[in-house]
Formats: sequence, C-alpha cells, structure tokens
Amino acid sequence: MYLKSIEIQGFKSFANKLVFEFHNGITGIVGPNGSGKSNVADAVRWVLGEQRIKQLRGASMQDVIFAGTEMRKPQGFAYVAITLDNSDHQLAIDYDQVTVSRRLYRSGESEYMINGSACRLKDINELFYDTGIGKEGYSIIGQGQIDRILSGKPEERRELFDEAAGIVKFKRRKAIAQKKLEDEQANLVRVSDILSELEKQVGPLERQSRAAREYLQLKDSLKICDANLFLMETEGTGRQLEEVEKRHQVLSGDMEDTGRESERLKAGYEELEQTLADLERRMAADRDELSQGTVLKGNLEGQINVLKEQIHTEEMNQEHLE
Ligand code: ATP
Repeated sequence: MYLKSIEIQGFKSFANKLVFEFHNGITGIVGPNGSGKSNVADAVRWVLGEQRIKQLRGASMQDVIFAGTEMRKPQGFAYVAITLDNSDHQLAIDYDQVTVSRRLYRSGESEYMINGSACRLKDINELFYDTGIGKEGYSIIGQGQIDRILSGKPEERRELFDEAAGIVKFKRRKAIAQKKLEDEQANLVRVSDILSELEKQVGPLERQSRAAREYLQLKDSLKICDANLFLMETEGTGRQLEEVEKRHQVLSGDMEDTGRESERLKAGYEELEQTLADLERRMAADRDELSQGTVLKGNLEGQINVLKEQIHTEEMNQEHLE
C-alpha cells in the first residue's frame, strides 16, 4: 500500500485545484517559509478525519477553507482527496485503489466519501486502524511532534507504539467486548431483580391461574348449554311453524270458501238490486197511472154531478109539466 496522489482544492493556501502525484521512491516538497508545505500535511490529516482544529493550526474548522487574498476571492468550500494503492489489500476493502475524500462548506455542511460513496467518519477511522495512516497515525509527523513524542507522557507514547504494533484494532475490539460484557452483567442484574420480583408474584398468579382455568371450564359448559338451548328453541320454533302452516292452510281453504260465498252473495245482491230497480220503475208507472185515474175520476164525478143536476132539472121540468 502506498500513497498515489493527493488532490486539494480550496484548502488553506490552495485555491486552485492541485494534484500531487507520488511514485516509487521519496518525494520532497521544498519552498520558502510560509509557502504552504505544512498545509499539504494538514490536508492529509484533515481528509483522514481530523476534528481538532489546533492540530490543523486554525481557530475554527472553517479556517481550512481558502480565505482569499488581495487578488483572489475566498472559496466556498474546501476539498481534499487522497488515493492509496491497495493492491496488497492492507486496507480491509475490496478495491485495489482507495480514494478517501472530505468536503466542507462555509455553512458547516460536510461530507466524507470512500471511492465516491458517502460514508461516516467512523468508516474512515475503521478503514485505517493499525495501518499507521489514521489521524493519530505515526505516518504523519507534524512540526515539533518528534519533540512532543520524546518528552511526552509514557501513555501518549504508548498509543503510538500500539498503532505501530498493529494492536489498536484488537485493543478497540477488547474495549467493545468489555463494554458489552459490562452491559450484559448489568442486564443480568436486572434480570435477577425481575426474576425475584416475579417469584413473589408466583403465589397470587397460581391462584389467578386456577380461577382462570375454572372460568374457562365454566365458559365451555355455558357454551354447550347455550348450544343445547338454541337447539331446543329451534325444535320448538319448528313445531310452532308447522302448526302455523297447518292453520294457514285451513284458513286459506276457509278464505276461498268465504270468497266464493261472497261472490255468490254479490251476484244475489246485484240481482235483487236489479229487481228493486224494476219494481221502482213499475211503482213510478203505477203512481202515474193512479194520479191519471184520480184526475179522470174527478172529471167523471164532475160529469156525473152535472148529469145528476140535469136529471134533477129534467125531473123538475117533468113534474112541472105534469
Ligand atoms: P513554514 O516552513 O514556515 O512552516 P510552510 O511552507 O509550511 O511554512 P504553511 O504553514 O503550510 O507554510 O502555510 C502557511 C501559509 O498558508 C500562510 O501564508 C497562510 O497565509 C496560508 N494559509 C493558511 N490558511 C489559509 C486560508 N484559509 N486561506 C488562505 N491562505 C491560508
């Protein structure tokens, strides 16, 4: 595994996009004081996930973005990508070439990528464990760091040696395992507490369980009784239905007879009505005839009286003449 290239854009003094290509052998970067040599190392440290701004010689993280000069406007973001040859697969990833990049905007928004896919800082840290490349790695020795290593505390030196010995990964796994063990032990204590709490509840629960079993048995019996009652009711209802049907048939017969009788009576009634009408007509005719007879009788009686008067007069005349 070796560093193939570093791409920098908008990072510290590098406003333009710049690509450093590294080949076999040693590459030296030379230049006057303040020309930006250390900024290259800062760029590598930054892309590997450095969060401590002091390590990057700034006051805030936004200080790594090109701040502009008299001649140039400031940049909106800083971008660094390093490409490593991984044909020996020292990095635990299925690629022969690995590009890790980091981008930061002035708004504070930032992103990390491994071979073009967005990832978390944690993924980058894990990728470089025990390779000596990580931000804590010994492959980047900054200005004055040798001094600090030599005069620093033994624990700080220990970290460096651990990384070089390739045991950081195992120490980390051990710490994770120990943490899990502690969690499990805490869980165990909690489970024992719960268990003893539950044991206290066993007596009442047993009683409740007996009552529940009894309740279930009674419920089953009730179900059977309900079913039987239903069957009995159904049978009774069937019988009632048969009786009602029989009565219905009888009543239907009666109704038919009554209908026929009603038809016959209706015919008789119509006949009688007809006869009544005839009789009324005849009565009217008789009444007319009677009144005509009465008038005729009056006339004839008048004529009789006249004739009687004439007879009387004639008799008188005869008497007189005699
Ligand atoms: P020395 O040899 O003295 O350590 P050097 O060559 O390593 O110097 P650096 O310290 O890497 O130089 O670079 C410092 C230069 O980077 C300064 O000129 C500073 O103005 C410039 N610089 C740092 N941060 C920014 C930034 N955000 N925007 C523009 N320029 C910056």
